[in-house]
Amino acid sequence: MRDANCIFCKIVAGEIPSRTLFEDEDFKVMLDVGPASKGHALIVPKEHYANIYELPDELAGKAMRLAKRMATHMTNVLNCDGFNILQNNGEVAGQTVFHYHMHLIPRYKGSDEMILWNANHFSDEQMDALAEQLSVK
Ligand code: 5GP
Ligand code: ZN
Repeated sequence: MRDANCIFCKIVAGEIPSRTLFEDEDFKVMLDVGPASKGHALIVPKEHYANIYELPDELAGKAMRLAKRMATHMTNVLNCDGFNILQNNGEVAGQTVFHYHMHLIPRYKGSDEMILWNANHFSDEQMDALAEQLSVK
């Protein structure tokens, strides 16, 4: 499955070059061209799925296992002090390439590569209602 206009599909097909760190039958892991920090990489499934909602469960599981393996390897090699693993779905959430991918972002003490969110406040009543609404039945 492939999308003719998708840049990651073109990379997977070898039509656009990338700096590949790992490859197997399901995934390519490559350096991000606009890295948030030294070593920022992307886990990209070889098949085209736009986002987490489309990603089959089996691949989702494999992606997380690979993320753990890559984070461990990259932390050992880079000697970084921490690690963010994140994944954006939808434009409002910051997704710019609509082919599912996970970000692997090494973090270094003293650097402020990424701004974290500010904690918002919701009332106890709102939090109780949300917990009820979101509980998986
Ligand atoms: P998103 O914003 O969709 O979560 O992340 C897309 C990421 O893909 C960005 O961090 C961006 O730098 C990266 N990216 C965009 N085009 C290319 C490309 O052609 N090659 C590589 N290696 N990364 C890309
Ligand atoms: Zn694609």
